[in-house]
Amino acid sequence: MKASADLQNILKAIDRKGYPAYKDTRGSYSFGQYELSIDHVQGDPFASPSKVSIHVEGKAAGFPKECYERKERRIAMQDYLLRLFGSEADKYNFKAKGSGKSGLLSVSRCGQEVLERTACVIVPESGAIVLRLEIGFPANGRTICAPELEKILFDFLPRCIQGVLFYSMLNKEEVKHTLFLADDRYYIREHLAEMGLAAFVANGSVLPRESGISDRPMKNSVLFASPKSMEVTMKLPHKGEISGMGIKKGITLIVGGGYHGKSTLLKALELGVYDHIAGDGREYVITESDAVKIRAEDGRSVTGDDISLFVNNLPGGKDTKRFHTEDASGSTSQAANVVEAIESGSTLLLIDEDTCATNFMVRDELMQRVVHRDKEPITPFIERARFLYEENGISCIIVAGSSGSYFNIADCIIQMDHYRPEEITDFAKEEAKAFPAVSLPGDIPAMPDYERIPVRAVKAIEERKGNNYYAQKYGRGGKNRNGENAEGNVREPEHTKIKGMGKESVVLGKETIHLHYVEQLVDAEQAMALGYILAYAEHNMFNGQENLREIVNKLMELVEKKGLAAVVQGSYLPSGLALPRKQEVFACFNRYRSLKIGK
Ligand code: ADP
Ligand code: MG
Repeated sequence: MKASADLQNILKAIDRKGYPAYKDTRGSYSFGQYELSIDHVQGDPFASPSKVSIHVEGKAAGFPKECYERKERRIAMQDYLLRLFGSEADKYNFKAKGSGKSGLLSVSRCGQEVLERTACVIVPESGAIVLRLEIGFPANGRTICAPELEKILFDFLPRCIQGVLFYSMLNKEEVKHTLFLADDRYYIREHLAEMGLAAFVANGSVLPRESGISDRPMKNSVLFASPKSMEVTMKLPHKGEISGMGIKKGITLIVGGGYHGKSTLLKALELGVYDHIAGDGREYVITESDAVKIRAEDGRSVTGDDISLFVNNLPGGKDTKRFHTEDASGSTSQAANVVEAIESGSTLLLIDEDTCATNFMVRDELMQRVVHRDKEPITPFIERARFLYEENGISCIIVAGSSGSYFNIADCIIQMDHYRPEEITDFAKEEAKAFPAVSLPGDIPAMPDYERIPVRAVKAIEERKGNNYYAQKYGRGGKNRNGENAEGNVREPEHTKIKGMGKESVVLGKETIHLHYVEQLVDAEQAMALGYILAYAEHNMFNGQENLREIVNKLMELVEKKGLAAVVQGSYLPSGLALPRKQEVFACFNRYRSLKIGK
């Protein structure tokens, strides 16, 4: 490995040259206690900034094993270090001057959730730390301004690193708090099932957010307080006793007047699949990790789902055991979302009437009399919910403020009243007796089959490998119709272009995959990671052999074992990736319109 002095020499040699000479800096340099690696150099001052990583060996970093041995602690610790580094780096951001992105110094911006990110990794075996960041290499116009980069790499960066990546420099109280919080959350998550719970909301939690565009806790909100009848108490390893509302497995209904806090409670439960940072207000709102928010999503594509549990006898004899559409309706999209959630192994569905297709949820008595069952393709969710729970162990929590039909089939009914939950199961059930119960259909439904086998890649890659394809079309090395070099056009499949667009969508090659309605995707870096995971799957696994379920399970195992690096093709691991859940991987694959399903 080269020494830091070598880097200084390179910088001297390339000063005031054209920007591309910055490429000479690529490589690793020893800075004594750490190693600086320049992984990728931007093409010009306005391009996406250069990628740099810092490596500190376990011995030098000096973190005790307790900080990273267990996974939940390691992730919390990584998150803590990253945030700390971020606030240090902010002090020096754009302090070095120049054109375009010159002087930019940035790491991943973390939101309220604690996620596993490529930006900061503690290696579990050795305690070594890798931190990945982006730096805008400075220039005047397009002329290299090496002294400014020297300032960043030899002054600013060492100062940021010094205070963050060495255990001896950290605030031990904060570290302890971070680790203890991770332990306590983990304890609740681990004990939910044995207590028969689908979710837990601690008393004193702050559920509402500051505003529709801010994820921070609302100030002066009504603190959460469990109804006495639903209160459970746990003894956490560090915090000690904690009480709160335990939502049992089964069918739970949340009712109440408009604006009384129903959706706010459900939203907190949706995000309870993630851990939240100290001070968020939802630190102890914990939901079954595989829970999936279900909503209508008209316009989405559906590829080969078996939605016959909910939809049959469509006009024109359209197949609902292998349902395909480029433009689903409200109800069929919601049916597909349920079926896919189950495919992903979810045991808890979260539903808010605000975002449902009404005809997917209920069909009232009068309508059943006027439009006969035989003429209605849709079996509403209300007629399947008990089957899903009793036969398949799939619970649901439903916000339903407008229809009382669900009272009959619910196990537990919560009323939100001025942001305070009350349990009203007995009362609501008593009242419901006076009304006709939902007539459940006589048929015994079959669970969907999940034999969807992706075959797209075989054909797509054949085509793109393309020398044959393009060469046949345009002649080897010839120009195509647009005057582009035909061979330049041949992209090796490994190099599918992936572009993030916030958490709204990710672009893979030519296709934009819309993730806007995948509501439990919380970070743009997760969307970006989904792009890489999908590209990897397409090139290596969509080969007509295994079904989607097997493929995603394998992928998750791979990523679990080797980290996101296992699915990223290219010469370096980008900093801006965060691990999504398996449920979101399914969601992304299922919204990929180019997916072709066989069998
Ligand atoms: P609903 O779904 O019952 O119509 P929402 O959950 O959308 O009601 O809540 C309505 C409003 O009340 C929102 O602006 C929300 O931020 C606010 N809110 C929710 N819970 C609380 C609370 N505990 N304290 C203060 N305000 C709250
Ligand atoms: Mg609402």
